[in-house]
Amino acid sequence: HADVALYHAKDEGRNNFQFYTTSISSKTPEILTLERSLRHALEREEFVVHYQPQVNIDTGKITGMEALLRWEHPDMGLVAPSKFIPLAEESGLIIPIGEWVLRTACRQNKAWQEEGLPAITMAVNLSLKQFRQPGLVETVAKILDETGLEANFLELEITETTAIEDLEFTRTVLQQLEEMGVHLSIDDFGTGHSSLSRLQLLPLHNLKIDGSFIRDLTKDVKVAHIVKAIVGLGRSLGLRLTAEGVEKQEELEFLKSINCEDVQGFLFFRPLSAQKATEILWDEGVKEAVENDAVLL
Ligand code: C2E
Ligand code: MG
Ligand code: MG
Ligand code: MG
Repeated sequence: HADVALYHAKDEGRNNFQFYTTSISSKTPEILTLERSLRHALEREEFVVHYQPQVNIDTGKITGMEALLRWEHPDMGLVAPSKFIPLAEESGLIIPIGEWVLRTACRQNKAWQEEGLPAITMAVNLSLKQFRQPGLVETVAKILDETGLEANFLELEITETTAIEDLEFTRTVLQQLEEMGVHLSIDDFGTGHSSLSRLQLLPLHNLKIDGSFIRDLTKDVKVAHIVKAIVGLGRSLGLRLTAEGVEKQEELEFLKSINCEDVQGFLFFRPLSAQKATEILWDEGVKEAVENDAVLL
């Protein structure tokens, strides 16, 4: 590693030497170890996808799941995405890893449908580099084809920051995905300093309000006003509104009072293993059948 950096440094002069050595030494031994083992994590099958349900506030029913990547490191145990996604992004490994997540999540959703469970959407996160990779649209099409999942049961999430970095590029890619029937969602909304008037140029279905707003909802009346305005404006633009990180009953009450549609948070469910998520969906399916007075098998 250090050799490579020095080589570039010599090539490009003194200032780069400074730059490269600083960037290397700023990485802790733990990060360097993670970086090394990340390269083999996919082939060693150390990744798992967990699923966090999204719940409709009015009906209390699960309308979707968000696929959240987990890395089970052989020595370090479970590594949080906030630790390894940036490394994967930096090294370009996010491309094969992201494709694996997409395939796994689509396959899972199709499997649930084939089991006879009520159809829900599967939301999958795309990082900046994934979104900007050449051939993303083709990859998504290929995976839908392979897994047999209909496009409208897949939702792709890009963050507000990714979306606004090059709005024209974003619009071109999202339009192609929209034409395929894929649903599109803005993640972590409110953190990227953009505005809905710019985002409304995009073919979006869903806006996810960042958890940091929900955390302050009941503590700061200004935040409550902001969230209310986001929900009002978003809904009037025809978007579905999902609140992330809902942990408290009072937060839920407020969100309900301002007509936010969906919530995702520990108050209802934490991210679940595929098996646990399947059980939860079965419980829901049975409840629904009883409510509809259907004949159970
Ligand atoms: P995100 O897409 O905004 O996902 C929501 C995060 O909030 C998840 O963290 C989830 O576990 C957490 N969360 C949900 N409800 C609550 C709550 O009530 N309270 C609190 N405190 N947290 C809650 P997680 O799984 O650690 O993921 C963090 C981020 O890593 C994600 O944020 C997403 O940006 C990224 N990420 C996760 N999986 C993938 C993936 O497959 N691909 C890419 N590119 N990024 C991913
Ligand atoms: Mg997300
Ligand atoms: Mg988010
Ligand atoms: Mg986030």
